Parts: sequence; structure tokens; C-alpha cells
Amino acid sequence: MIEFLNLKRVNSPHQDEICAAIQRVIDSGWYILGRETELFEQEFAAYCGVKHCIGVGNGLDALSLILRAYGIGPGDEVIVPSNTFIATWLAVTYVGATPVPVEPDERTYNINPGLIEAAITRRTRAIMPVHLYGQPADMAPIIEIGKRHGLRIIEDAAQAHGASYRGSRTGGLGDAAGFSFYPGKNLGALGDGGAITTNDENLALKLRILRNYGSKVKYKHELMGINSRLDEIQAAILRVKLKYLDFENASRKTIAQIYFSTLATTPVILPFVINDADPVWHLFVIRSSDRVRLKATLDSAQIGNMIHYPISCHQQDAYSAFEFGPLPLAEILQKEVLSIPISPYITSSEALEVGAAIRSNFR
Ligand SMILES: *Cc1c(COP(=O)(O)O)cnc(C)c1O
Repeated sequence: MIEFLNLKRVNSPHQDEICAAIQRVIDSGWYILGRETELFEQEFAAYCGVKHCIGVGNGLDALSLILRAYGIGPGDEVIVPSNTFIATWLAVTYVGATPVPVEPDERTYNINPGLIEAAITRRTRAIMPVHLYGQPADMAPIIEIGKRHGLRIIEDAAQAHGASYRGSRTGGLGDAAGFSFYPGKNLGALGDGGAITTNDENLALKLRILRNYGSKVKYKHELMGINSRLDEIQAAILRVKLKYLDFENASRKTIAQIYFSTLATTPVILPFVINDADPVWHLFVIRSSDRVRLKATLDSAQIGNMIHYPISCHQQDAYSAFEFGPLPLAEILQKEVLSIPISPYITSSEALEVGAAIRSNFR
């Protein structure tokens, strides 16, 4: 049996360091907004090549706080991918703005820059590209469109810690970026966590206030903020895991390469990487018009697999009150994609076994 993702296996190589980090926080007697969070923010900002990092409670808050800090709300529109995890859309509707979905590039599954301009209206304030499955969106044309129309570019980098585009890391490609440290992400905590990265100093200052009850000085409240902070224990754990992120992303790449070579001759559609992108393989997503058989093949070989994502955002009950135009590509993808196991600590022989199982039924 090969599990889709075993988080115990992901964290156990770091167990001694993680336990020591947790003990250090316990002994400090200081559990919220302290030294560990500050140091993690500095270290993660340096890693992403940006000036500022603000630790928050989770990835969804990271995205909605950026929108709020930019004053985006009711009456405003934000361009989002039709093909993404629902949190991208929820961040937009949480601040009262309207998500305007744009279909993906059929090869990369990321937002198609060529379709963005047609979706811009007088109300559009921002574009929120997602680096889906760990693969950077095609940012150069998106940034160019943003400049031409005066729109903010907000990266949803929740699946792309360490990925790069034309040599620059995600998190520093737009005006601001939201990251998630949900346990299953490439940089995962042992609970919820998130962060915002940006080079915009004013934005960073405002976000530090918004995440902490709208307060800079204790018991003095300048804004109606929220409570969304990365806690000291998670920050201490993330400081341990950040040291291994590049190694772990390299190990994901090795697994991805095994899949590329073992599945090359099959009719299964493999991920497509654009020249400018260096992905981090948060997920390895293959595609087949006969997904039923593909999934049955893996299930009977006891190989974990998942669908990311089975229901498109625009078809979720949560958005039944909204009217969206036809989004056929998002709908086709939801029927055809399947994710196969990838993680830093699955072995080459396991990856070969996955490849062989698929090959046995898809020639
Ligand atoms: C995980 C994820 C989020 C949200 O992160 P949480 O920490 O779970 O709130 C946002 N966007 C994408 C694309 C994600 O995969």
C-alpha cells in the first residue's frame, strides 16, 4: 500500500528538532507574537526575497487581510482563476467583493493570462493568480496587464513555497502574496498557520495592525481588526522546517521526474511546465478522459489518490446565489484530473511502483 500523503513520515525526520523548538517556546512563557514569530517572519521574508513577512492564523486570512488592507470590498471585483481551491474565492467574498473567474491555460491549469483583459471592468481592483499545484502562474503578462489597468496583483502562493518564476521566488512576484502553512503544504506547520509577504511597507504596517485587533499599541485600537496571528509554537516549528524546504522540494522534484519518465509513453496527460517556471510539486496531477478507470487502477493497486478538486468553485452550493458565465474548462478539469502520491519522503521505488501500476492499464 502506498498512502497518498503520510504526514507522520513527513515530520518524523525533524522530530527531535521540532520537540526542542516546542520545549523552547514552553519554557519561554510567551506564546503569541513573540521572538519565534518575529524570527520566522524575518527568515521567511529572506527566503522569499521580500522585505516584509507578516505571520497570520491561516492562508485564507492571509488573502482576505491583503484585500482588506488594500481597501477592496463591496462593489469591487477581483479576478480569480476558475480552477482553484475555494479559499481563493472565499477570501474575495469574505471582504464583500465579487470574484470574477477566468479560465485556465489548458496545459498548465493555471489562470490563462490571455483571457484576463476581457474580464476587466470599471470595478476590477485586483488580479489574484494562484500558483496551483506548486507551479508558478505565468506572471509576466499578468503583471503587465495589472500595470496597464492599475490593478493590484495578489499571489495565492499557498501551494508554492519555494517555487520560482524567471529566477524569483513566489511571494515576491506581485504586490503581495498569501501563504498557508496547513500541515499538508510544502512548508507545513503542526496546526494552522499562514503568512503574507510583500515589499510594500505601508501594507505591511497596516497588516500588522489588522491581524492584532486593529492595534499597534496594546489597548489602543485604530482599526476594526481581527485576531489572526501565527502562534509562537507554530512559528518555532516552521523555523525548523524552513531549513529543509529546499531539500524537500528537490526530493519532490526527483519523484516528479520518475513520474515523467515512467508515464511518458502512456495516454495519460502529464503536467506541463512553462519555460519560465520552476515548480515545487505540491501535487502531481495527471489527467485522463477515462478517470474512472485510472482511479480504479490505482485503488486496486492500493495506491492513494485524490481529486483536486472534484467540484469547481462556481458550482459549489456556497456560490449558488452568484451568476457566473460558462466555465467549461474548469468543469472538464474537475472531471478528468487525478493526483498521485508525491511528498519529500516517498521513495523512488514507491514512485516506480505507482508508475508501473498506471502503465499496466494505460498503454
Ligand atoms: C490551502 C490553500 C489556501 C488556504 O490556506 P489555509 O491555511 O487552509 O486557510 C488558499 N489557497 C490555496 C490555493 C490553498 O491550497
